[in-house]
Amino acid sequence: MASMVLVSLLITSAMPIVSAQVGQPDIIQEHWYHSYATLTLDLNEWADDYPEIVVLLSIGQTELGREIWMLQISDWSKETKEDGTKKDVVYIDGGHHGNEHLGTELAFLTAQFYIEGWSSGDNEVIEILSNVELHILIMLNADGNDFDTRWNVNQVDLNRNYDHYWNTCPTTQPGNSAFSESETLANSIYMNEVVPDADLYVTMHTGVWIMLYPWGKWPEQPSDWELFHYIRDEINGNISDIPIRNANQGLYPNCGTSRDYGYGVMGYPTFTFETDDEQFLLGTIESLSDRLSEELDVMRYLIQNVWYWRARLVFEKLEITNNQISVEVSNLGHSSTANATLNYYNYDGELLWNSENFGVNATNHSKIIIDANNLSLTNNGFWSVTYQKRVVDSAQWVEESINQSAIVIINSGSERFLPAPSLFIYLISIIGAAFAQKKKIKNQKILF
Ligand SMILES: [Zn+2]
Repeated sequence: MASMVLVSLLITSAMPIVSAQVGQPDIIQEHWYHSYATLTLDLNEWADDYPEIVVLLSIGQTELGREIWMLQISDWSKETKEDGTKKDVVYIDGGHHGNEHLGTELAFLTAQFYIEGWSSGDNEVIEILSNVELHILIMLNADGNDFDTRWNVNQVDLNRNYDHYWNTCPTTQPGNSAFSESETLANSIYMNEVVPDADLYVTMHTGVWIMLYPWGKWPEQPSDWELFHYIRDEINGNISDIPIRNANQGLYPNCGTSRDYGYGVMGYPTFTFETDDEQFLLGTIESLSDRLSEELDVMRYLIQNVWYWRARLVFEKLEITNNQISVEVSNLGHSSTANATLNYYNYDGELLWNSENFGVNATNHSKIIIDANNLSLTNNGFWSVTYQKRVVDSAQWVEESINQSAIVIINSGSERFLPAPSLFIYLISIIGAAFAQKKKIKNQKILF
């Protein structure tokens, strides 16, 4: 027994040396794809070398029992942004299809850019890691990766196995049922439990050089087309000529994909990033990081601007008269929102009134007149707004306080209605995600 303990201690202490010797050396890494084994060593090395920014965990096992590794990258010494608000969340996965190695390597290079940028003191990276959490799953289908095949070991196409209109298009090998495979099930659990509020999801593949936004299921543009078209125009105007289309028209109709699930069920703005139209030649003189540098620039742009990939309402003025409220509101985000309501609470946080629904377009300043016949003001009452981050039904709901300085009361005897003391924190809460079918409200809290 004692010798067993000794042996395990020796193995433990020898681990860093072992990984330093057999981890994929840079010269090979630049000219060869990762196997599951070399990826495992590289990820452990990152976690060992940069514990302040890298958390490595396994979120489940493949059908053959390999770990499904997740990297969580952020400056973990900071729990929130400097202003006390929640960090933005970006979700990236790669390697659904085991023979699409360049897409998997793009996920690896994205993680590497932020980890090595941190270690070299790159200002862009330090800024991002102070304000954003990156969740990167580089190789979902490790079994298929090592067999160099599209499918997992059960011969299922993992990117047709998600629970969004599963098996409703002509397709091959979608599995026995939605989430029948351990890989897709683990990915969906992580989305729902750890990153339900992500404001960007990019899933990386290899094939035709293209970026695809929803839907794969339908030829029509998605309800958040303004957001996707804005991003397309910015990328094509400033960074890359990569075609950016909706998936059904840009590629072919497909159902049960992680992209349609990410948007249609989770409410994320979602892209499939297809890296290239040719397979990278192993051992070629061109390095992977050169080959994928333009794609990495696109990813940096998407990550740097993640704050804008939703509606961001700022109320400049709420002018309250006897029977109506005239509202001046700006949407700083590039998504429109529907179903917004104004809410009025008394000092104890009891909801006294809420308005009819209204919408605010993306990147827009609006003046809106709202009926307020049933509103009666009270001493120290306060205001908030509830709205969806995007137009799609599955988009997350948020509730935010309205700055007291924006409130103007115009009616006789209005001095009776003192605004609440200025204890308000500007951004107050998350009401939670509303799913198309199962509306669920969670974490409802109002800070004041
Ligand atoms: Zn693929």
